[in-house]
Amino acid sequence: MGAHTTGRHRVVVVGGGFAGLNATRALDRADVDVTLVDRANHHLFQPLLYQVATGILPPGLIAPALRSVTKRERNARVLLADVQDLDLDRRVVSARAPDGRELDLPYDTLVVAAGATHSYFGKDQLAEYAPGMKTIEDARYLRDGILAKFEMAEIATDPAERAEWLTFVVVGAGPTGVELVGQIAELAHTVLPRDYRSVDTRQARIILLEGAGAVLPPFAPKLQAYTKKRLEEMGVEVRLNTLAVDMDHESITVKGPDGLETIRTRTRIWAAGVQASPLARVLADEAGVETDRAGRIPVGPDCTVPGHPEVFAIGDMASLDKLPGVAQPAIQEGKYVARVIKDRLTGRQTPPFRYFDKGTMATIGYRSAVADAFGVKVTGFLAYVMWVFIHVMYLVGWGNRLGAIYTWARALWLSHNRGNRIIALDTARQDVAADRTGPVRPPAILPRDTPPAAPPAPAAEEAIPSTPREAGSA
Ligand SMILES: Cc1cc2nc3c(=O)[nH]c(=O)nc-3n(C[C@H](O)[C@H](O)[C@H](O)COP(=O)(O)OP(=O)(O)OC[C@H]3O[C@@H](n4cnc5c(N)ncnc54)[C@H](O)[C@@H]3O)c2cc1C
Repeated sequence: MGAHTTGRHRVVVVGGGFAGLNATRALDRADVDVTLVDRANHHLFQPLLYQVATGILPPGLIAPALRSVTKRERNARVLLADVQDLDLDRRVVSARAPDGRELDLPYDTLVVAAGATHSYFGKDQLAEYAPGMKTIEDARYLRDGILAKFEMAEIATDPAERAEWLTFVVVGAGPTGVELVGQIAELAHTVLPRDYRSVDTRQARIILLEGAGAVLPPFAPKLQAYTKKRLEEMGVEVRLNTLAVDMDHESITVKGPDGLETIRTRTRIWAAGVQASPLARVLADEAGVETDRAGRIPVGPDCTVPGHPEVFAIGDMASLDKLPGVAQPAIQEGKYVARVIKDRLTGRQTPPFRYFDKGTMATIGYRSAVADAFGVKVTGFLAYVMWVFIHVMYLVGWGNRLGAIYTWARALWLSHNRGNRIIALDTARQDVAADRTGPVRPPAILPRDTPPAAPPAPAAEEAIPSTPREAGSA
């Protein structure tokens, strides 16, 4: 497929997440033609996925269409296709369109920003029992599952069975795990009790498992201690130094300081591990370099792939200066590579990439959060206000920002209700049917002929360590 007809420098950007979208937007007015290719038609604001998973925000508010957010970039076009291969010798990106046809996208400069995916530490079969949350479909699937469990608890008459429906276990106490359990607790203890007649949803057990000795491992001890205390006040059982060692559709077996225990539960959620996009491996193989333990490709100080000055790898799939896999490095790298590309066209030298650390934060629940920014550690309501401000600022589009503020005001402060609780029998059945025989979630699409990156196999006992996403700083 011929990408351009203008004869200008051709830039292909793979991935419209924080890194790729910022690169594309910063190339506005540059003398280049940009093709942004993504397998989703939207830019996803992942830090708010947990709010979709717990019925607070509707998906559209955190996932604006890429076409819409780039409509003013006259030199950019968007393609919906799954990138399958990167040929650095021929300088061609191979992608597959929704109808299966192959697209060849030639480039002069390539920016690969395909993000990361879940890591089950080599035990991918666990995805069947403990889904993770990376895409909008994942969040909707989790939301349907969580709401379906409350429906089943209302129907169940056997107290033991009802308790199983009302037990929610989240593996991994990084920001995502903490935010999820906080919102499930609010759902069960504050939002839903008035809506149910047979079941008292306040009896729900919400358990957070963490392999390390503290929640929010990357945060300062003061913020960790506050978070644990707040979660416990909200009715969450926080289990530290505890590993998930096995699971099935009805239970999870954990190993903690008191030994092995099997917890009967119909809901297990994976918030523990992250692995770079398989495209990092494709790129590394093409360039003849090794990926790191998390499957990321090492890049130079100008974000280029070793030996290929025309190829940039940025965001979660790239390893540079030990930067964490969070939004700010991705955003800043995206803007930086656009600058490098523009400078090259005018013969200017660009200094190496320098990261500006804007801090980290996480919400815990209603009006409480922790933040570590500009050397100041803040907890409680003030941190919550900072969190709201930052997240609204970084949401893409004024409509979405106003929509989020309105929905939060209504859901969290005024009515204590959640407007996005739609499920139907079919969606509920996917997650609660007793006769399930296999995974209910479609597997992630992996590049053609490329095996998933194999992390070092953990010892049997520590099969499922809780290694949460590094500190969030949207
Ligand atoms: C649940 C969750 C909560 C988070 N919370 C925070 C937080 O509070 N603060 C914070 O700073 N960070 C947070 N993060 C991390 C942050 O979202 C990431 O660091 C950031 O999104 C990385 O940006 P990226 O552009 O590298 O990747 P992404 O934003 O993941 O974008 C990658 C893009 O590439 C596309 N893509 C992937 N493979 C292909 C392919 N083969 N073909 C075509 N397109 C492809 C994807 O569809 C996607 O659009 C969170 C992440 C998650 C999952």
